[in-house]
Amino acid sequence: MHSSPARLVREFHLAFGLDARTTPTEVSQELAAHRGELLAEEAAEVAEVSVTGPLDRLAHELADVVYVAYGTALVHGIDLDAVIAEIHRANMTKLGPDGRVSRRADGKVLKGDHYRAPDVSEVLRRQGWEEREPLSVREHTDS
Ligand SMILES: [Mg+2]
Repeated sequence: MHSSPARLVREFHLAFGLDARTTPTEVSQELAAHRGELLAEEAAEVAEVSVTGPLDRLAHELADVVYVAYGTALVHGIDLDAVIAEIHRANMTKLGPDGRVSRRADGKVLKGDHYRAPDVSEVLRRQGWEEREPLSVREHTDS
């Protein structure tokens, strides 16, 4: 494993004068929407080549998704490595204490009694996030 994409993507953003924040921050709707569109474009490219290939195209588009996702996290001041670690921690609690995986008949991994859901809010608070009400709530109460 090479170093986290976070460092590389930060280097890219700084070199090209793109936004790079160090504390979780709600950004302008325009910027947030722009980042969402970039990611949707890359995800669509993955979907396009997933079945048809070739494999090098798939690898390229998967890397684009990750790169843009890390960039979007950076724009919002989110340490994405820490969030991924929390998601991983939660996923691993799907294992039973005996190290066995419980599955449904169709193969889906079940969340057993030891499952502990990810707490992404807590991860962001540790990064300095001051949580506000979601925009949809604020819109109804501001006017
Ligand atoms: Mg692409």
